[in-house]
Amino acid sequence: MNFPVKKLTFNQQPVVVSARCPACKHRGTFDPLQNIHDLLIQNLAPQVTTGQRRCPNPECQAHLFFASQNGKLIVSYPPELIDFDPVNLPPSVLTTFEEAISCHANRCFIAAAIMIRKTLEELCRDRGAVGDNLKARIRALGTKIVLPQEFLDGLDDLRLLGNDAAHIESQEFNKVGQEEVEVGLEFAKEVLKAVYQYSALLGRLRGLKKASPTA
Ligand SMILES: [Zn+2]
Repeated sequence: MNFPVKKLTFNQQPVVVSARCPACKHRGTFDPLQNIHDLLIQNLAPQVTTGQRRCPNPECQAHLFFASQNGKLIVSYPPELIDFDPVNLPPSVLTTFEEAISCHANRCFIAAAIMIRKTLEELCRDRGAVGDNLKARIRALGTKIVLPQEFLDGLDDLRLLGNDAAHIESQEFNKVGQEEVEVGLEFAKEVLKAVYQYSALLGRLRGLKKASPTA
């Protein structure tokens, strides 16, 4: 995001910055830093306030840079990452999906869609689903793991989203932007949960039961 800065003043009264902490993931009103004033960019309408804050969680206190307009956060750094549980994911799938999330957080939506597609490639490879192309590999995946048909259909849509992202003109989606990528990430999270995490959770639940054979 570019700010054509021409007229800067110190803002004596700190603006309220509410955000989800990129480090500890808690949502809160971030604390101003002592003796560091916000800066007001006055030549923009509405005016933009920029500054620094600290996470209010005493165990975190992560540092955040921000810009806000009309009391609304318009950009922050480090960027906020969407919530995601990495438990039980194989490293190849995890690394690829984390890169998709990082691309989204940095508003690189086309790159994010391509990384979501690559996550599917890694998922198929991890589960031994083979075929000449990703469409065939997704079909083969349906024979390797237990997934509802709707999930398999959705995986094919994610593949198409990644395809569109890699080409100059979208063929299947109207565009590859924030909304498409956010829905894609949410859907991919559900699939990863179904493939890797439900069985681990079930194992933990069963592990809590008494060893007695009477049931
Ligand atoms: Zn924090």
